[in-house]
Amino acid sequence: MKFSYAFVVVLALPVTPLLVGCSQEPSPPATAEPAPADEGGAEEFDPHDAPMTEAEIESLKGGLTSYSEAIAKVKSLRDSIRDAIAAGNPPGAHRPLDELDIVLGHLTTVARENDVPKSEWETINMSAQRVRELLGEVHARIDGGEAAEYETVADDIQTAIEQLEGVQTN
Ligand SMILES: [Zn+2]
Repeated sequence: MKFSYAFVVVLALPVTPLLVGCSQEPSPPATAEPAPADEGGAEEFDPHDAPMTEAEIESLKGGLTSYSEAIAKVKSLRDSIRDAIAAGNPPGAHRPLDELDIVLGHLTTVARENDVPKSEWETINMSAQRVRELLGEVHARIDGGEAAEYETVADDIQTAIEQLEGVQTN
């Protein structure tokens, strides 16, 4: 998450004559008027980078009622991320990046609670973690204002997603 602030500095320096070598009355406290809160965009918040609420996270997880549904969600979020970056709108990738991180973190649970045999859980865990790491690099670059460079991880992400897709379900 990134906040950018524009600082409004109000200088209220009392004009005092330059006196040398004699006792000076202490200056009266500077009476800076507080900057009006909503004027001049004193605080800006990137609407693309709003943190997900608990309710949103729960609703996202709740929508994953089978492993194949979860994989479809992974792929569509991956496409949203890739497309936002390709369209020159990396801030538009914040939200799908956050959502995909939640979905991937929840994937093993979805597998366990639904239709995937235990023998596949480790593969799912490893591949999901791999995608999270790779996308984490992209997200860190976007948060840091750098070029997203999705292309540097695109193939590895595709490979890991294919491993997730290749998992045998009951
Ligand atoms: Zn972000």
